[in-house]
Amino acid sequence: MQDKVTSGINNSNASSTGTQARSRYIFVTGGVMSGLGKGVVTASIAKLLQLCNLRVSCMKIDPYLNVDAGTMNPMIHGEVFVTEDGGECDMDIGAYERFLDTNLSRDHNITTGKVYSSVIERERKGEYLGQCVQIIPHVTDEIKARIRGLAAKHMLDVLVVECGGTVGDIESLPFLEAMRQIRLEDGAENVLFVHVTLAPVLDVVGEVKTKPTQHSVQELRRIGIQPDIIAVRSRVILDDGIKSKIALFANVSMRDVISCHDVDSIYEVPEVLQQQGIVDRIRHRLGLPDHGFEWGSWRQVMDSYRSLRDGIRIAMVGKYVKLADSYVSVNQALSHAGAMLGYRVRIDHIDAELFEQDSRNLSMLDGYSGILVPGGFGRRGSEGIIRAADYARVKDIPYLGICFGFQLAIVAFARSVCMLDGANSTELDEDARHPVVHLLPEQRDVVNLGGTMRLGTHEIDVKDGTLAYSIYGSRRIYKRHRHRYELNLEYRDILERHGMIFSGWSDGARRMEILELPDSRFYLAVQYHAEFTSRPGRPEEAFLAFVKAALEYSGSNERARMRKRVRGIHSHPSQSPPPISKPRSRARKV
Ligand code: GLN
Repeated sequence: MQDKVTSGINNSNASSTGTQARSRYIFVTGGVMSGLGKGVVTASIAKLLQLCNLRVSCMKIDPYLNVDAGTMNPMIHGEVFVTEDGGECDMDIGAYERFLDTNLSRDHNITTGKVYSSVIERERKGEYLGQCVQIIPHVTDEIKARIRGLAAKHMLDVLVVECGGTVGDIESLPFLEAMRQIRLEDGAENVLFVHVTLAPVLDVVGEVKTKPTQHSVQELRRIGIQPDIIAVRSRVILDDGIKSKIALFANVSMRDVISCHDVDSIYEVPEVLQQQGIVDRIRHRLGLPDHGFEWGSWRQVMDSYRSLRDGIRIAMVGKYVKLADSYVSVNQALSHAGAMLGYRVRIDHIDAELFEQDSRNLSMLDGYSGILVPGGFGRRGSEGIIRAADYARVKDIPYLGICFGFQLAIVAFARSVCMLDGANSTELDEDARHPVVHLLPEQRDVVNLGGTMRLGTHEIDVKDGTLAYSIYGSRRIYKRHRHRYELNLEYRDILERHGMIFSGWSDGARRMEILELPDSRFYLAVQYHAEFTSRPGRPEEAFLAFVKAALEYSGSNERARMRKRVRGIHSHPSQSPPPISKPRSRARKV
């Protein structure tokens, strides 16, 4: 299965070295605390090496026991990112894909669960006959084999491997030990350790503190790893005094202490690192051939994020609103579309339960340029989402529904327009009078919940002459999926008679993938996850169309307000609602 994404940005990944000599590894570890933006630092390093015309990729290690991220609550662990081959992965895989403009696979994400499963399976088969199976060497060998196997399979010059968690965690020890062994076996000239830490700034005195960094480097050295580069996250630019202090305690040269201070857009981070000479340091340390360095179209990506105008406000109505990372790919897809149009997209994450408590709260949606309902699971908040989907139609506010947002738009339309009382998804009400959305037939006998949804890339046919066709400009598209429920085809006819158009389908029209309401300004919902294939500089088409519609709508709204004001009528206060919930961000700004 392929996304069939044609890469726009320096994606040739071609090594001008011709034949593959050997793979080098850059291991990225984290210190002090989680959520520092280690994934962005990893992706940025890989991006810079890609711009050096080297074959490079990224891998993420998640030391938790789950086999994959699929069964985890996004509110605790962030979004579950889906690869084209149907891997349910850590959200950092999404960051790597966006930076490298490359499609990765499930093998780019390893977990303790995956590693132990294969070791135990092998033990049961008798492959270790006679031996006592242990963490060292059996588990560490399995980890090394997976890392080296990926580098060999893709004939990489460099594989950048990020180890999740923080140094000192019990769970990450076997992985760090495997990395230490790789350096020992492959030689220090082929392996580099980058340690990402934090230098907090004390608010009262504005002093930058280095002690947490010193401690976390000590922790790393205690297990036999001397970092080569220290990437220090900080609110402010680190001056030479601080850099030299960290260098002294961490036992590295001052040139190897890199300031990773806050910048406006994550896509500027490669430039921040490059300006401090990281490319030359890595090239020199790993003996990489010098094939020059060119920003290429990444320059346009960075430029597109500079001096953006305000004016687009999107209400994202969902369940996992307390952690912005729950929908990181959706947030990014909106920002890609906005940047292309020269606008910053302000996103308010609104808890759908607000609309269940009191439907008058729906009026807070009036002030927005568009309403987006992302993916989701389960009953909590679902009635609120259904109301919001209906409100968007009634008030003619641009609407984009993704997966759950597709299914619940069908429920809303069935109830309010087709007058199907009691219409629902069987996910939310098993005995719904009108089960307009139901379990995929092939899911009926599925028992295990891990890795069993309809996953990954599937081919979709797009109908001529529809909004979807005008958006994609193609009769065939390839999109990623993650769902168990779908439109019940028995209701297709009645929905269409009332004006809903199904403009995209898959598997020989056995399942509907895109819906639209032609009488609305912009009302589009998709069963697939359009957000996973959006890239900076190349926004996913449905997102771009939605943000464009939202921009036009906010412009026309603004003009209407001006006219009213001229006539002496004041705008309704709900048109400038206060921010709803300020999501806790996992410090994605670097
Ligand atoms: N819960 C729905 C399903 O399983 C939607 C899933 C999603 O939004 N990713 O089909």
